[in-house]
Amino acid sequence: PTAPVNVVVTGAAGQIGYALLFRIASGQLLGPDTPVRLRLLEIPQAVKAAEGVALELEDCAFPLLSGIDITDDATAAFDGANVGLLVGARPRTKGMERGDLLEANGGIFAPQGRAINAGAADDIRVLVVGNPANTNALIASAAAPDVPAERFTAMTRLDHNRALAQLSSKLGVPLTDIKKLTIWGNHSATQYPDLYHAEVGGKIAAEQVEESWLRDEFIPRVAKRGAEIIEVRGASSAASAANAAIDHVHDWVNGTPEGDWTSAAIPSDGSYGVAEGIISSFPVTSVNGEWKIVQGLEINDFSRERIDASVAELVEEREAVKGLGLL
Ligand code: NDP
Repeated sequence: PTAPVNVVVTGAAGQIGYALLFRIASGQLLGPDTPVRLRLLEIPQAVKAAEGVALELEDCAFPLLSGIDITDDATAAFDGANVGLLVGARPRTKGMERGDLLEANGGIFAPQGRAINAGAADDIRVLVVGNPANTNALIASAAAPDVPAERFTAMTRLDHNRALAQLSSKLGVPLTDIKKLTIWGNHSATQYPDLYHAEVGGKIAAEQVEESWLRDEFIPRVAKRGAEIIEVRGASSAASAANAAIDHVHDWVNGTPEGDWTSAAIPSDGSYGVAEGIISSFPVTSVNGEWKIVQGLEINDFSRERIDASVAELVEEREAVKGLGLL
C-alpha cells in the first residue's frame, strides 16, 4: 500500500474548507489510489469548529482517509506536508487600505512560509486560495528560501472555469469543445480572460463572438463573478472555489491533457514581458509534476494592454509588501 500523502488545509473550519475537505478525503484531489492524511490548521478560536468538521469526516468512513490532525500551530501542521492548501486569510473589510490588508496577511503567510521551510516534505506543493492570493503566495515563498519558488502557486482556476462556463453558454457548445483558454495576471478585478488563443471546435473563440460582448460583457462578468455570487447567494462562493482548488492540485500532480492548457498563477520567469518573480497567472501545462508556461503565443495590442495593467497591479503589491519588510 502507498504511504498516505499529508495534505494541509488552512482555514479548515471556513466555508471553502467545508466544501474542500470531503472531496480531498474522498480521493478527488490525488486520485482513487492515494490515501491522504489531513492536517487542519486553524486560528485558536476556530479549532473547535474544525474538530466538528473532523467528526463529520470520520462519519463519512472514507476508505482513503488515513487520519486527521487539528492544530493552531503552523510548524506542527506543515511538518512533513506534501500538499498545502492555504485557504485561511484576512479578507478585506470595509474601509481597509491595501497596506493594512497586506500587513495583516503578512502576519499569516510569512509564518506559514517559515513553517513550510522548516519542515515540509521535499515534494511540497503549495496552492494559495486566500486573498490577495497572488501576493500572499509571494509572501509565503519569500519566507521559505530553501523551497524552490515554483512550489508556491496561487489560484486562478476558478476564474478559468468561470470563463469556460460563460463562453460555453454564449456559444451553446459543450465545455469539452473549448480549449486553450487563459487567465492572465492577478486574481482580482484586473485579471484578463483571453479568448484570442482559446479554441472552440478548433477555431479561435474571439472570432466567434462579437467584440462588444468580449469587451463589455465577458471580461467584466468573469472578473466580477465573485461579487455576483455574493449578491445572489447572499454569501461568497465556496463550493466553486473548493472545486477549482481541487482541479489545480489534481492537474499539477497528474498533468494536463495533451493539446490543451489551463491557467495558474506561478512565479514569472519574465515570459510575455511579465515582471520576473511576481506570481502571475499564465497559460500553463503540467508535465511530470511541474507547471510550464506555454510559450510562443502572439499577444495582440488589446491583450498587451490588459496583461500589462494586471501585472502593474501585482508589481505595486510586491512593492507594498517590500515596504512592509515582508520580502
Ligand atoms: P472562506 O472559506 O469563504 O474564504 C477563505 C479565503 O478564500 C478568503 O480569503 C477568500 O477571499 C478566499 N477566496 C479566494 N477565492 C475565493 C472565491 N472565489 N470565493 C470566495 N472566497 C475566495 O472564508 P471563511 O471566513 O468562511 O473562512 C476562513 C477561515 O480561515 C476561518 O475559519 C478562519 O478562522 C480561518 N483562518 C485561518 C488562518 C490560519 O489557519 N492561520 C488565518 C486566517 C483565517 P475573499 O474574502 O477576498 O473572497
